[in-house]
Amino acid sequence: MSDITPDALEERLLLLTPTGTDSTSAHEVLTRSGFLVTPCTDMAHACHEIYRGCAALLIAEESLGRDNISGLADRIRSQPPWSDLPIILLTGRSHLTQHTSELFELFQDRGNITLLERPFRINTLLSTLRMALRSRRRQYEVRGLLEQVQRANIELEGRVAERTAQLNSSVKSLESFCYSLSHDLRAPLRAIRSFMNVIEQDYGGRLDDEGRQLLSRVRVAGERMDALINDLLTLSRVTQSDVPLGPVDVPRVIALAVEDMRDEIEKTRAEVRLEPLEGKVRANPVILRQVLENFLSNAFKYTRKNEPPRIHIWSERQDNRIRISVKDHGIGVAPEHHSRIFDLFRRLHSSEYPGTGVGLAIAKAGAERMLGEIGVCSENGTGSCFWIELQAA
Ligand code: ADP
Repeated sequence: MSDITPDALEERLLLLTPTGTDSTSAHEVLTRSGFLVTPCTDMAHACHEIYRGCAALLIAEESLGRDNISGLADRIRSQPPWSDLPIILLTGRSHLTQHTSELFELFQDRGNITLLERPFRINTLLSTLRMALRSRRRQYEVRGLLEQVQRANIELEGRVAERTAQLNSSVKSLESFCYSLSHDLRAPLRAIRSFMNVIEQDYGGRLDDEGRQLLSRVRVAGERMDALINDLLTLSRVTQSDVPLGPVDVPRVIALAVEDMRDEIEKTRAEVRLEPLEGKVRANPVILRQVLENFLSNAFKYTRKNEPPRIHIWSERQDNRIRISVKDHGIGVAPEHHSRIFDLFRRLHSSEYPGTGVGLAIAKAGAERMLGEIGVCSENGTGSCFWIELQAA
């Protein structure tokens, strides 16, 4: 049997009947009818052959014993999902034996058993066996299809990984292109701005009103471009670099961010209320400070006309996360814009308020880098509350 091909193994009919002349003649009849028969000496042998591969098991009730039923049940239960091995059980004419009933009970959930009551016509046996073989071949087809699906899945996963790697590398090159472009634009801009100063100082007196107005517009455009380049460089730094994360003290980082806004606070006579809880978040101190500064500078900027800013900063803990919130009482953001204002260059109030539309994109990239989340709660006209949520450390 060792030189049998895998295909032939799977076509075999296993025969488990008490040894003797009946068994020999059954073997002969089945072989003559074209079946590839493997007689089994006992249940252990049958179970071993099922494991190697077979199409069906023909078993006489007399071969079932209390001590061997569970071995067969285990073998049937451990079949792969596509397999439902046909078992043809030859029973006596009267009631089922206790072992056959037990076998049925064990196979309640799984088992493809056909009972053939003796005496039966040989043609009945042959057609039952042919049906069993046909059903087994369909199972092999299902197995083939499952294998195809599995192969396709593996191939697809490989392709997705390859494309993702290509995309990541394109994104990386684009990011470094953006960084070097922003960086290189700085030098000519610096030259333009210093020549502008020279023109204003040395030649300003010789210009008429219109000339001076044009000069002032060039200066404002230069300042705007400078702000834009600085913001884009910050964004590149946040998205490009490997960001080491560690415990960052929440009250301290908030205090530092507020300190950086000291001039703005004095200039606008802002009222700033701080209520941070004692605690640490897993973050990068430079990026977290940058995020909070972006929230704060917007809170100072988007105020209602002639109203000094009122800003409330606090933090709260939920399970193992800490949320830091910056709330203002300014013009607010309508709910339909909440998801979009974190996009790069998205500005809702371009004409009335200066800005580049990069600040919240930096904040979002920073939050992602620190494995956190970012969001806003606001109604138009009732102020806004921007928050960042990070893992507690
Ligand atoms: P910028 O302020 O430079 O325009 P941001 O990316 O910081 O860019 O903000 C994007 C847009 O979101 C702003 O143009 C503004 O319309 C809106 N926004 C941000 N913060 C606030 C706020 N605190 N109150 C009202 N609107 C805000």
